[in-house]
Amino acid sequence: MAMGFEALRLRLIGERKRLTAEMEQLSRASAASDETREGSPFGKREEEATETFEMEKHLALERGLLDSLAEVEHTLKKFESGTYGLCDQCGQPIPRERLEALPHASLCLKCKVLQARDVKARPSSR
Ligand SMILES: [Zn+2]
Repeated sequence: MAMGFEALRLRLIGERKRLTAEMEQLSRASAASDETREGSPFGKREEEATETFEMEKHLALERGLLDSLAEVEHTLKKFESGTYGLCDQCGQPIPRERLEALPHASLCLKCKVLQARDVKARPSSR
């Protein structure tokens, strides 16, 4: 395998740590807001609207974190199987500059573009 991937692996491990910490912080924050909810009988309606908004925001944030975490985990597995730096789709080496910019990239640019087009072409869920 090409030299110098160790630095990228360390970056990914750091990223995983950061994402895990953010997840913990997020669940702690939602536990705290559960507590405040019970103690405030005034302005109920407005509060609920805010809560729904906060909850949506919270969920979106959590989903984003989980997605990133899954990507990072996936990439770390590729290190173990010795396929790091290779495109998941076509098996071609991913250019070094792309990995430097995006250590968790698991597709080469060509396949990434194709995938993005694919997602757009697929019938939307709504
Ligand atoms: Zn590819």
